[in-house]
Amino acid sequence: MSASPVSALGTHAIIDNLFAIEINQKHKDLVIRMNVYTSSLTTGYYPKTIALLNHHLPSIFKTKCFNDFNQPFLIEAADTEIAHLFEHIFLAFLHRDKLSISDESFTYSGVTSWNWQREPKGLFHITITGTENDYSLISWF
Ligand SMILES: [Zn+2]
Repeated sequence: MSASPVSALGTHAIIDNLFAIEINQKHKDLVIRMNVYTSSLTTGYYPKTIALLNHHLPSIFKTKCFNDFNQPFLIEAADTEIAHLFEHIFLAFLHRDKLSISDESFTYSGVTSWNWQREPKGLFHITITGTENDYSLISWF
């Protein structure tokens, strides 16, 4: 894994030629551009996903997921886009980080989108948004 800042506005990382992420701040949102370089673009190709999440980040299953079938994330995570999983991992870490420094209520939300008719296959866009007056997302990068 390597990560290096490319500008004052963003951070860019390439992870073992599996995927690349570029994170930028847009107002108080974090806008993440994720390029996945494998043809296996969903967790359905990785049958150990749920077991690994249960072992390393069980709090991810407390994140609320708004998906087409209204499935809990435990079910959704078994066969979802890699970037959608990344969004929930990010949200779970934000939640854990925020709880460690404050007991104030807070909400983060995320949206993952893609359009492979207009953009290359494997390119995803993830937007992470905090609550109205919460600028703590900015301090992450
Ligand atoms: Zn979701």
